Amino acid sequence: MKKVWETFSPQETEAIGEKMGQEAVSGQVYSLDGDLGVGKTVFSKGFARGLGITEHVTSPTFTIINEYMGRIPLYHFDVYRISCEEEMDDTGYEDYFYGEGISLVEWATLIPNLMPKDAIHITIEKDFKKGDDYRRITVCQGENA
Ligand code: ADP
Ligand code: MG
Repeated sequence: MKKVWETFSPQETEAIGEKMGQEAVSGQVYSLDGDLGVGKTVFSKGFARGLGITEHVTSPTFTIINEYMGRIPLYHFDVYRISCEEEMDDTGYEDYFYGEGISLVEWATLIPNLMPKDAIHITIEKDFKKGDDYRRITVCQGENA
């Protein structure tokens, strides 16, 4: 399964996140990748809103994991500061990934061996030929993603 969206503003990216949050199901793990400043946290804010979370969502860069209560619990990871996969052992990530909530992992490419095989992969990219606010959002699921 592969889907591609194009957005031209942060609001549009947030709206796609919100739609995916509305459709998200208990137990899912999502990876969210793309360069610094591409819009991963913007997407996450919308995703959280789609799960019915009203709390303000911030980037968990220094805390690794933020937990929010919505229709389904959301575990928002940002593993940017992880220097090796072993460092994740202390976070109890397995309980989150294989639990009833939904995990959304910014910078999941840094922990490729820890991500569940059935994770849903979201990649956000810029294309300067299409303007500063243009983003392409690709969603893939499955072994051949
Ligand atoms: P990341 O978490 O990937 O490091 P952020 O979500 O924190 O990035 O920041 C993305 C920045 O890009 C914000 O300042 C946002 O306003 C800006 N931006 C511009 N256009 C878009 C777009 N189409 N989608 C998402 N963010 C955009
Ligand atoms: Mg971020």
